[in-house]
Amino acid sequence: MNCEKCGIDAPVHHCDVDGFAYYLCVTCIEDWDAVAERPDTVAPAASGERPVLQ
Ligand SMILES: [Zn+2]
Repeated sequence: MNCEKCGIDAPVHHCDVDGFAYYLCVTCIEDWDAVAERPDTVAPAASGERPVLQ
């Protein structure tokens, strides 16, 4: 299935973004700050501590 954000053909996960349902690839889930619900396969980001994005 294609990611609804970047369009890549990859395994996607159902996520909640600002109240809307999206199917996103893991990369977009990790990069998109608005994703409210993250699947268990993605490590939850600790509040107040963000990874450095390049
Ligand atoms: Zn994507």
